[in-house]
Amino acid sequence: MVVGKKVLVIGSGLGALSSALRLSSLGYEVEIIEKHHRAGGRLNLLEKDGFSFDTGPSFFSMSYEFRELFQSVGEEVPFEIQELDPLYYVHIEGRDKPFKIYKDSKLLAKEFEGLEHNFEEKLNTYLTRAAQVFYDTEYRIVKKNFNSILNYFLQMTKVPKKHLPLVFRSFWKELGRHFESEEVKIIFSLVAFFLGATPFNTPAVYSLLNYTELKHDGYWNVKGGMYKIVETMLPLLGKRGVKIHYNTEIVSCGFDGNEIKYFQDSNGKQWTADIYVSNSDAASFRGRILGRKKFSAAKLDAMEWTLAPFTIYLGVKGKIENLGHHNYFLGSNFRKYADTIFKSNTAPERPYYYVNVASKSNSNCAPEGHENLFILCPVPDLRTKPDWSDAENLKTEIIRDLGRRVGYDIQSNIVSETLYTPKDWEGMFNLYRGSGLGLAHGIKQVGGLRPANKDEQFANLYYVGASTHPGTGLPIVVIGSGLITERIKHEHAIV
Ligand SMILES: Cc1cc2nc3c(=O)[nH]c(=O)nc-3n(C[C@H](O)[C@H](O)[C@H](O)COP(=O)(O)OP(=O)(O)OC[C@H]3O[C@@H](n4cnc5c(N)ncnc54)[C@H](O)[C@@H]3O)c2cc1C
Repeated sequence: MVVGKKVLVIGSGLGALSSALRLSSLGYEVEIIEKHHRAGGRLNLLEKDGFSFDTGPSFFSMSYEFRELFQSVGEEVPFEIQELDPLYYVHIEGRDKPFKIYKDSKLLAKEFEGLEHNFEEKLNTYLTRAAQVFYDTEYRIVKKNFNSILNYFLQMTKVPKKHLPLVFRSFWKELGRHFESEEVKIIFSLVAFFLGATPFNTPAVYSLLNYTELKHDGYWNVKGGMYKIVETMLPLLGKRGVKIHYNTEIVSCGFDGNEIKYFQDSNGKQWTADIYVSNSDAASFRGRILGRKKFSAAKLDAMEWTLAPFTIYLGVKGKIENLGHHNYFLGSNFRKYADTIFKSNTAPERPYYYVNVASKSNSNCAPEGHENLFILCPVPDLRTKPDWSDAENLKTEIIRDLGRRVGYDIQSNIVSETLYTPKDWEGMFNLYRGSGLGLAHGIKQVGGLRPANKDEQFANLYYVGASTHPGTGLPIVVIGSGLITERIKHEHAIV
């Protein structure tokens, strides 16, 4: 006789949806509780004035992780992906042309002509080294469950010793060993900000991210907009009987010994299951909902968090020729900016920001003859800058700067405008202090040292998403969903 097991998933971010898909395909009965009115978490949608905007992620690496997810449940990938080529454009203040960052090393070498002698050869040496780190950690660390910190350290001994210097050397220093041009070093080190640190204090092991973007699988987005990922996953979940309850926030729990008995929502309703998966931030959930001292507000504040998003969504009349699909706008003071952005209690005066123009490749995102602009400016989180009553100033400065740099009067052509400050991000998805990508990935907060994907006390509680192992980013939380599925399959098998 088959005995069913019920799984309650708290949150409907990508980590949750992927877990629900895997678990329901194995025969578990899955129910999802979501605080927001729509599924997807940070991977969300804003529809306004005839425009549609992806609210957060706009591209991803390691596209094959999505293929693995759908293949593992006997489905075709339900959305169409398109490779970014060039990967992105980087505008540096004081230079008249943006750098086009290509995966093709010959084309990329042309971009740095006159700036970096023998670029292609140096790039090849640099990426070969980065590739070794990628392959030597992929299965030994990233795609591995750890049962204890000791187990993690034992596992670390299986990573070849030759990579050890890269743990102690900074990303910036490693780039300096291979390249002389400041521009090359700045552009290649931008990925460090995704990890929640600057290249000056990020370990060089993360040069593996340059391998993933520039050589391995590149960057991809989704035809019709990133939200198609969520839109096409929902029917697959429906087909497997997964129910989603929106506008419902879990605020407390009840337990007996080492078992969670229920989670309670803000209306007092108790939700029960055999197994629970939290997709809410794995660190702050332990503090706020489980009341763990190790994750008290003071302890959480002492951890390292990624920057907070300040995001602007603009519908603009006309076509802006000097913008690509993915564009970075940097100033001329990279070192100083990187050093102050994490600590400053004021909004940056000359902000660095990223602009995504989905209408460049997806015509359905904007009415004809218009562009939809998503602007992301990473800013200090709410620990250092709690007050955003001055948000309009930063918005106006970014729009002015962008208009000047692309030679288009954006301000006068705005037909739709929405702004989310870190406070909004915190409120919408329970992002701790508004941190955009969750816990940072410094050496003390990765692998077995990150809040674990299995609870330390409750045998029927698991975690998936940005702040647990293996970490943040779309393909990485998909990997995380595979890891907890493995655990649940073994520890709570359907008999
Ligand atoms: C502005 C921005 C841009 C980004 N760009 C990229 C990018 O280009 N590429 C990339 O790969 N990654 C990007 N990321 C990171 C990526 O979005 C995240 O790593 C990933 O989406 C996290 O997914 P998750 O599974 O942790 O779920 P989340 O997105 O964190 O979703 C968690 C869900 O749980 C719900 N929830 C929380 N607490 C409760 C509760 N108590 N009760 C009920 N529900 C609850 C929330 O409302 C939310 O819906 C970006 C993030 C941001 C903010």
